[in-house]
Amino acid sequence: MNQEDKIKQAAELIKKSNYIVAFTGAGISVESGIPDFRSPGGLWEKYNPNEYATYSNFLIHPEKYWTMHKELRDMVITAQPNPAHLALATLELEYGKLKVIITQNVDFLHSRAGNTKVLEIHGTTQTSRCLSCDKRFHFTEVEAFLDQGQIPPRCPQCEGLIKTNTILFGEQLPYDVMEQAREEVIAADLLIIIGSSLTVYPAAALPSLAVQTGKRILIVNREITPMDIYANVAIRGMAGIIMPKILSTLKELIN
Ligand code: NAD
Repeated sequence: MNQEDKIKQAAELIKKSNYIVAFTGAGISVESGIPDFRSPGGLWEKYNPNEYATYSNFLIHPEKYWTMHKELRDMVITAQPNPAHLALATLELEYGKLKVIITQNVDFLHSRAGNTKVLEIHGTTQTSRCLSCDKRFHFTEVEAFLDQGQIPPRCPQCEGLIKTNTILFGEQLPYDVMEQAREEVIAADLLIIIGSSLTVYPAAALPSLAVQTGKRILIVNREITPMDIYANVAIRGMAGIIMPKILSTLKELIN
């Protein structure tokens, strides 16, 4: 089947669905200028995850994590939602079909695009906390510490280590957020998966749950994923190009 036919099928899937859940990964933000981790040229080529992104190493060498964070932060601050983020906002705000986005991303771009219900299963860079006294910090406070050259930033109250509320390898995913995500997948009639290699667990267990519970599945990803064989429609391509095409076909089908 050619891509045009797949786009039409995708639009038809969306048309007949009323409780859509989206599951997104780093790939959806690549066209906003934030690289993913695993693709060639991705962040892992520069920052070995075992060194820069494990909780155990964070406790020994927090400056490594914060150096990587600073680079990601500069990209996140200048990034704007791209047409794929905006397509998901349209599906929620104009069509009322998209009920929730479950995202592995920590870049806040879905909220900035206008989506109102976003479950951030890998946490957020918007807030941080002191690992010693649990004092909470807003993004801007921590950014000020970084701009003053404090790497790693330390708690002004107790000198403890400050950590963003993102999930490093070796940390538990937030239980309540994962529970809500599971419930949403079970409530869904269609799961739209965009820009995820579907290899990072336990997050990737959510698309598996959708398969096990018989949900319709649409995948938009630049490369093949292990879930493509279970999808009703799997489209290989750039999310920022494919998603607007699906939306304009949907518009034609509905009008
Ligand atoms: P991943 O790096 O494992 O996979 C990204 C997938 O997106 C790949 O399969 C790639 O082919 C695809 N992709 C790349 N560009 C694309 C595009 N323009 N359109 C469609 N697909 C595209 O990412 P992951 O599965 O999300 O897991 C990596 C982890 O790293 C996540 O858990 C996330 O927390 C974190 N991360 C987040 C950000 C962010 O917040 N933007 C960026 C990098 C990594």
